[in-house]
Amino acid sequence: MSSTHKLPISRPAIGVVGKTGYWRLKRPEVNYVKCIKCGICWLYCPDSSINILGDPSKYVEVDYNYCKGCGICSNVCPVKAITMTEE
Ligand code: SF4
Ligand code: SF4
Repeated sequence: MSSTHKLPISRPAIGVVGKTGYWRLKRPEVNYVKCIKCGICWLYCPDSSINILGDPSKYVEVDYNYCKGCGICSNVCPVKAITMTEE
């Protein structure tokens, strides 16, 4: 039996209006020095626009193709590692 499990996690996809990240007015920027790799931002992002377990040195990466800039990730980060900046 394989030790690799696939989780039933949905991912954003191109809709009828294309990639929806262009709606964004503010952009979340992750400070990887501050990030403690807790994954809370990934858990709370309403658009599934944060990827985890990709590059181990970064751990979380924002998918700007779909991120709407709502700022929830920035608000829930326990160490304030995500800053919202103007586009
Ligand atoms: S700003 Fe909102 S949509 Fe963008 S990554 Fe953060 S929680 Fe997700
Ligand atoms: S919530 Fe903050 S500390 Fe936790 S993984 Fe996201 S950016 Fe890193």
